[in-house]
Amino acid sequence: MVPPGSRQALTVPPENTLGEVAASDPVRLPDLVTVFAKRAERLRALAPGHELEGFLRLIATLIEAQHAALAGLPAGSLPAHGEGPPLDPTTCQRDGTWRVALARILERLDAASLPEAARAAQAALAEASTDRLEALADRFLGGDVAAGEAAQAVFVAAALQVAWTRMAALLDAAQLDPADSGQCPACGSPPVAGVVAPGGTKFGHRHLHCSLCATAWRYVRTRCAHCGSTDKISFRQLAGASYLRAECCEACHGYSKVFYLESARAIEPLADDLGSLGLDVLVGEEGFSRVANPFVLGVMGESRGNN
Ligand SMILES: [Zn+2]
Ligand SMILES: [Zn+2]
Repeated sequence: MVPPGSRQALTVPPENTLGEVAASDPVRLPDLVTVFAKRAERLRALAPGHELEGFLRLIATLIEAQHAALAGLPAGSLPAHGEGPPLDPTTCQRDGTWRVALARILERLDAASLPEAARAAQAALAEASTDRLEALADRFLGGDVAAGEAAQAVFVAAALQVAWTRMAALLDAAQLDPADSGQCPACGSPPVAGVVAPGGTKFGHRHLHCSLCATAWRYVRTRCAHCGSTDKISFRQLAGASYLRAECCEACHGYSKVFYLESARAIEPLADDLGSLGLDVLVGEEGFSRVANPFVLGVMGESRGNN
């Protein structure tokens, strides 16, 4: 775990996330040069001594492969913009870019360094037909991954993230409406976590961060990201981790994580979510649930189980 940071640590320029996030843009699109690189770097920083050290290092390696896969992707195309989020994977036609990304990720990973389940998944995916890959992608995006294919779904998720993040980077943020919604204005996916940064009001702004395309959008604080309720919201936190809370909703029994930039440095929402799975266990025992981080699928050995 990351020890709670100090304000002093937060003042160190220029690589600090604080400055970037403090800007209260309604929608922030991903920066392809840094999005995966920073995520992998954050996981490498979180890993030493962590109880899930091997897992965090494995996912860091996978994210480094995502970063490498971005270079040299085919040109691809943006879907026609109709109603709703322009990159909604359940409504827009998917081109083959994500399969190119998958092949590049699979090639880059050294089989000898992978745990058995991941190695078997890597081999199976490398042999899989286009139809089977597309069916796997559909099941992942539909939250319908079977237990036996969870490890494969992690690689599929990684490849879809590459393709969707690249498309999101090509959008015009001014055309996207955060609409006070708990779902990504670019692609309609659920957030992986929220980050509260100082600025605006004395309480700061919250941005939710998309689990698929890495777009961030502003969302009211102390409001359920699942059902929009502002009643009966309560918070849970782990001892010694004041920079992180679970925002729990009694109305729908959903929860989401909120990271506070005031008290910790260099937060990367997807990486820090993986680095704080102990909080998920705690609130899960109380009966609250969320859409799992895509990379948790294979490790927990369970289906996504979110519907
Ligand atoms: Zn998105
Ligand atoms: Zn709710």
